[in-house]
Amino acid sequence: MILPPARLGMLGGGQLGRFFVSAAHEMGYKVWVLDPDSHSPAGLIADRHLVAGYDEYAALDELAEGCAGITTEFENVPAETLDYLAKFVPVRPSAQAVAVCQNRIAEKTFLRDHGLPHGPFAVIRGEADITAANAGLFPAVLKVARFGYDGKGQARVADRAEALHAFHQFQNEPCVLEKMLSLDYEVSVVLARDEAGAVAVFPPAENSHRRGILDVTIAPARASVCQQDSAQEVAERIAQALDYVGTLGVEFFVCRGELLVNEMAPRPHNSGHHTLDACVTSQYDQQVRALCGLPLGLPRQHSPAVMVNLLGELWFENGDPHGHYREPDWSVLAAVPGLRLHLYAKHHARHGRKMGHFTVVCEDAVQAVERAMAARQAIGIRDE
Ligand code: ADP
Ligand code: MG
Repeated sequence: MILPPARLGMLGGGQLGRFFVSAAHEMGYKVWVLDPDSHSPAGLIADRHLVAGYDEYAALDELAEGCAGITTEFENVPAETLDYLAKFVPVRPSAQAVAVCQNRIAEKTFLRDHGLPHGPFAVIRGEADITAANAGLFPAVLKVARFGYDGKGQARVADRAEALHAFHQFQNEPCVLEKMLSLDYEVSVVLARDEAGAVAVFPPAENSHRRGILDVTIAPARASVCQQDSAQEVAERIAQALDYVGTLGVEFFVCRGELLVNEMAPRPHNSGHHTLDACVTSQYDQQVRALCGLPLGLPRQHSPAVMVNLLGELWFENGDPHGHYREPDWSVLAAVPGLRLHLYAKHHARHGRKMGHFTVVCEDAVQAVERAMAARQAIGIRDE
């Protein structure tokens, strides 16, 4: 067991890393963050911020020497970096597990090989794969295999010609071509797994997206008990098959009542932010515990919760990218009962950039949704 006041290492300095640093500090640990951005949200509150790239081995050596265990908040940390660090210090999750989650081809192949439910897809490595793709896949979504996030690196394509065009736009990078599914709704499951294989699963959450970016999470999801149980069970099977140690997020589509895995995130998940305010143990506490070999905490959710993401457009008058830049009027949120605001201290807002979120907790689930949606409108988020 790694016990306080040991030093922990975090690869990546975004908001997920920032919440990890807070959780670790709360539990008595010190944290060093490695991130190339000198203004990174986690770096700002870390005990030390190594401003370096994920392939700068001098900095990686320093991190390995200084820390008792290392984890990540960013799925695009090169697997080689994790493998390298693991020679000197425990790294959780493993490079192998992260490698599956960071490449859509590896991820989809993993799901297929393990008999886990997923939508129809084809692997696209060249033009010939588009020509050969099953006609039944169209209309489809073409997604680059690596480095996509928040809907980036994705194109909706009606037919083969459009798919070819999009493939060229993506510089012929390896892709997956997914059938465009008509979704009843989307859910996600966040869980933590320890080295001995014990698992703590949070209740499934229900997610809605705007322009490919998570907008609102309602937790627990309003899905049937049976569907919630099977989502949790599938997520557990994934964690087990990856021999995963840490916090894992699994996104699902519900499509004509059928549960399909969309993708996995080898880290805490945006749809698990509410665990900070509504659960006995947060997804970040679990990440610390799993990394340090402590028994996992209780994932019980004590109140219904609704989380709303605050994106950069909110900083621009009327959401206009050329509009006047100013701070949103946070006083309107301060007055809402049960609302907690979390801002990530990013130094500049951009359209689509995740700047913060708020969570509304309430004894009554319906009222939580009403309050959160009213607050979302009051702060200026418009449905177009
Ligand atoms: P990201 O890495 O950006 O989260 P996702 O693959 O999860 O990428 O896609 C983002 C969102 O786009 C999904 O949550 C879903 O709303 C929509 N989407 C993605 N793929 C499909 C699909 N095959 N059919 C329908 N909607 C999709
Ligand atoms: Mg996603």
